[in-house]
Amino acid sequence: MNYRFFLPVEIIFGKDKIKELSQQIKNTPVLIVSDPVLKEIGLVDRVKESVGLPGDVFDFCQVEPNPSCATVNKGTQYAKEINAKTIIGLGGGSSIDAAKAISCLVETNDTLQDHLFEGKTFEKRTSLLIAIPTTAGTGSEVTNVGVYTDQDREQKKPLVTEFFWPDHSFLDPTLTYSMPAKVTASTSLDAFTHAIEAYWADSSQPLSKLLSMEAMKLIIENLEEAVKKPQDYQVRENLLYASLLAGISFAQTRTTILHALSFPLTNEYGLEHGFACALALPELILENYVFFKEPMDALTKYLDLESVEHFSQKMLQIMKNVQAPTTLSELGIKKAEVEKLADTTLTAPIARLNPKKYSKNELIIFLNKIH
Ligand code: NAD
Repeated sequence: MNYRFFLPVEIIFGKDKIKELSQQIKNTPVLIVSDPVLKEIGLVDRVKESVGLPGDVFDFCQVEPNPSCATVNKGTQYAKEINAKTIIGLGGGSSIDAAKAISCLVETNDTLQDHLFEGKTFEKRTSLLIAIPTTAGTGSEVTNVGVYTDQDREQKKPLVTEFFWPDHSFLDPTLTYSMPAKVTASTSLDAFTHAIEAYWADSSQPLSKLLSMEAMKLIIENLEEAVKKPQDYQVRENLLYASLLAGISFAQTRTTILHALSFPLTNEYGLEHGFACALALPELILENYVFFKEPMDALTKYLDLESVEHFSQKMLQIMKNVQAPTTLSELGIKKAEVEKLADTTLTAPIARLNPKKYSKNELIIFLNKIH
């Protein structure tokens, strides 16, 4: 065995754990970075109450799904105006990622685009960064990654820096009760793809494999239940725990071609991130098997499934049951557009971490199978 495993994030997990938030906040003002839906349904106020410090807590609740550079730059301006010393990302991956970038940009005169496209690098972060997920999917609370969309360049891109590791992450399953069924389904499938991609990536390692296996088992056992019973604590806890495990796992390994394909599916066809990551999953399980036989057999056994074909079928059925798209044609993608989709997918470096190394032609054939 030969591997490196790094996780510099304090994880505080459990029912009503956000009540302990105030213990971690040493410097003010505090800025909560979130989205309009969470403001509307009262989750932002719930966190504000937990922080206490009336008059010293501000919020920026303009983050959209797949956060844009423009929104992050606007949030940074606001953080500078109030001189924020603690930044809390409250929400799904979009709000947490926006908070990560704001917490670093606030100490610079840079735009997010300078870092995403012009090669600038962060040198420090002195503000405290806290992540509070309200979805059970991205694992952003335990990664050093942020993913941003630049509307001018029409590109969605990840940014990785050591300053994006949150200092503390609070995982309270009760914050995920209000997720609509579609968000539950999409975010759980995102977590599932993190787990399986971390499992089969060329960069995989023993600890990641272990975490991934348990994450996949929990998601298979709980996803359909969560869609049916959104306020079931045990089910929500299982899914939040699974997404945490999957997040820790892929933070060590990165993801593979499913995530590479998700970027154009979201950017160009507007598909939700988790659905975009999972669309090709059942077919890719079969194609990767040839190149990753023994570990896939071990995984199938761990998941109590009979064969890799059974595994693929099971995932297809779960996806259909939770109304996830499973073909490109459902998204209105025409056969003539498949070549461009293959091209864009292969530009993402993570595509090369997949067990099966796709040439452009092979990827076109693959994508036509799921058309
Ligand atoms: P999201 O943050 O985009 O939120 C999706 C929708 O769900 C929003 O409308 C939001 O208001 C709503 N929502 C979230 N929590 C809710 C709740 N508890 N109740 C009601 N509504 C709720 O969704 P996401 O899937 O968590 O994040 C996706 C983003 O995260 C993408 O940009 C993706 O690329 C990125 N991502 C980042 C990482 C990372 O490591 N940084 C990993 C994977 C994905």
